[in-house]
Amino acid sequence: MTTNGNYRATIAIIGGATAGAEAAEKLSEAGALCAVFEQNDRPYGKVEDGLPRWHENLRHKEYTSIDAKLDRPGVHFIPRTGIGRDIGFTELVEDWGFDLVLLANGAWRDRALPVLNADTYVNRGLIYQNAFIYWFNHYEEPGYDGPSYQIADNTMVVGGGLASIDVAKVLQLELVARALWARGIRQDLLAMELDGVPETLKQHSLIWDELGLAGCTLYYRRRIEDMPLADAPPNATPELLIKTGNVRRRILDKAQNKYLFKVEPLWSPVGLLTHGDRLDGLRFARTKVDGNGRAIGLSDEICNVQAPLVISSIGSIPQPIEGLPMDGELLRLEDLDLGSVIGFQNVFGCGNVVTGKGNLVASRRHSALIASRLIERIEAFPSSSTDNGKLSDLTRRIAERQRAVGYEGSYTAWATRVSPPGADFRPV
Ligand SMILES: Cc1cc2nc3c(=O)[nH]c(=O)nc-3n(C[C@H](O)[C@H](O)[C@H](O)COP(=O)(O)OP(=O)(O)OC[C@H]3O[C@@H](n4cnc5c(N)ncnc54)[C@H](O)[C@@H]3O)c2cc1C
Repeated sequence: MTTNGNYRATIAIIGGATAGAEAAEKLSEAGALCAVFEQNDRPYGKVEDGLPRWHENLRHKEYTSIDAKLDRPGVHFIPRTGIGRDIGFTELVEDWGFDLVLLANGAWRDRALPVLNADTYVNRGLIYQNAFIYWFNHYEEPGYDGPSYQIADNTMVVGGGLASIDVAKVLQLELVARALWARGIRQDLLAMELDGVPETLKQHSLIWDELGLAGCTLYYRRRIEDMPLADAPPNATPELLIKTGNVRRRILDKAQNKYLFKVEPLWSPVGLLTHGDRLDGLRFARTKVDGNGRAIGLSDEICNVQAPLVISSIGSIPQPIEGLPMDGELLRLEDLDLGSVIGFQNVFGCGNVVTGKGNLVASRRHSALIASRLIERIEAFPSSSTDNGKLSDLTRRIAERQRAVGYEGSYTAWATRVSPPGADFRPV
């Protein structure tokens, strides 16, 4: 028996990517009407804009999976609609008449470089990771009109996690491709990612030293063994922690051997070097790692490092939405297992916005878990909550918004229309 006319419940999902699409599929299968609000034209989120574009197979697979989950009965896709931008969060929760609201909006805000006034220099010597990878993924598309960045030799990357290694890789691949181009060689970037820099150069009878490049350097505040490149299980024994440290070192060694970037561990940024209105590098303090794995700054060893470009890659956190309570960087949750947001009866979160983990599988699993908890909840809804007037009002509002953004009701037609020319995947 369903409530709300033909539907068991009505659910607004904010964000249509890995987590949002997974929830939409599970909840619509369970008889809910799901309205998926997506701020962009395409619903692929970090997979399209965050995951560097050499992950072609993973992207195709994930695009296909997201498309199938959004193009099904009971799911209403509403593109070009940012909550907090085009529709207020409070308006959505209080006026639209949804039974539940599920946040699946990921983590799109770069954690701020922890040096006073650093953000004054954004795009004047400082770039953040999310904008940089977005540029890398899209700049070759015809008609691209987003931010444009000049790749410079000797760029400094501040980070230490997998995403910062991706940033270092992008820099090295772009630098080498440009150096080869200057020698009249057109090198496919994705083929170079696969083969690595030394092997690619060998194919052109060249070696790194002949290019006259310094390459980029990654600065990390702890030891290489502490880099979050592989997870230790909770309550790991000291032996297991040593093993995890060795795995991390091996992952880094492999990446460095293949892409030839440098790494400087045990340095923490403490100040800005500036020249005119531009950032010209960073001041670092040497650190040591204490017994709890924390980096402690040592005031007696300070080092100024000049760099034409600094890229900060120290993590992504949820973008604040007006009306939505945050706990510092994170969503303020009442119940972590249920993903319920504090101060609301009917607002929940799933995927990266809650897990903070930059991992597709973790995002999807978390979303499936929260969806199963919500299904238990909607199955307990009293049948007396049926309100056909409310439902028709809601479906009318959904259709009006879809029409306003030019979405005519067919997911496939829309997805084909908004795929950039030459995109590596178009739905058929
Ligand atoms: C550089 C980098 C490399 C990575 N490499 C890997 C890897 O190798 N393997 C791996 O498994 N994972 C990797 N990840 C992580 C992976 O991409 C993410 O964990 C995963 O895609 C998150 O899925 P999500 O659905 O939770 O969030 P997202 O993909 O961020 O989706 C959120 C969606 O919500 C939309 N949205 C946001 N705010 C609003 C709003 N206010 N209103 C409406 N819509 C909104 C966004 O447009 C987006 O479509 C990488 C990430 C980065 C940044």
